[in-house]
Amino acid sequence: MNASPVALHGMTCGRLRMPHPFLISGEEGFIEVPVPAFFIVHPRGTVLFDTGLPVGIRTDKERELLVAAPFFEVDFAPGADLAARLAAAGHDIARVDYVVNSHLHFDHAGGNALVPNARLVVQKREWEAGRIPETIASNYFNPIHYDLGHDRLEIDGAHDLFGDGSVVCVPTYGHTPGHQSLQVRTADGDVVLCGDACYLRRTLEELRLPDIVADREAMLRSLELLRGLVQRGARLVFGHDDAQWSRLNHGPLAALGAAEVARADVRP
Ligand SMILES: [Zn+2]
Repeated sequence: MNASPVALHGMTCGRLRMPHPFLISGEEGFIEVPVPAFFIVHPRGTVLFDTGLPVGIRTDKERELLVAAPFFEVDFAPGADLAARLAAAGHDIARVDYVVNSHLHFDHAGGNALVPNARLVVQKREWEAGRIPETIASNYFNPIHYDLGHDRLEIDGAHDLFGDGSVVCVPTYGHTPGHQSLQVRTADGDVVLCGDACYLRRTLEELRLPDIVADREAMLRSLELLRGLVQRGARLVFGHDDAQWSRLNHGPLAALGAAEVARADVRP
């Protein structure tokens, strides 16, 4: 493998309990999942991929989740937010250069307010959907999470963040209109942070879509794209897979190389 200039880390920014069909259509009961976020250190800048839950959810779930509030139970202890996680590892969140949002849902853009000086990197079609009342409502967006005046780079499709192929936004539309994943070239291979393009291993292996999906056909195409990346040697980190994440996430800021992800792929 080529040497990579990039260090990739993962952290857990709370947990959610919700009806199982929210993640896998046709299932019954409830599912409890982690809310991951990722921190990347590159010689020319630091990057957060997703920002976890909004801090306000602890005290006013209705204000943060609106009509979705009754469906979610939230475990988000003090110390689990992004600012605290980074501080515990010796990083100042005020100095983070980029926030790449996979999409604008509350558990992915909810902590954007904690990163005021970062440049937001978001797909243009996601940002547009997040500005129109009808698509805000149909996608369960809440502008208080993302419409905060950040310096913003709107991209249209794939985007190589540093121009060296080490951190690349990969369009994976479908879950929301402009969802994107992030491909990171670690020292021992490519890791793709799926976000909610692929919630769980089951989503990929069984092509089981969730109840909440903006465009089913687009989401299926995105899952095929992720399968293709796996065939070319990439390792996937799923969006909310408790079994995988519990094997990956050790310590406050866990190093995530391709080897770590490969080890976590061992089935029980
Ligand atoms: Zn999510």
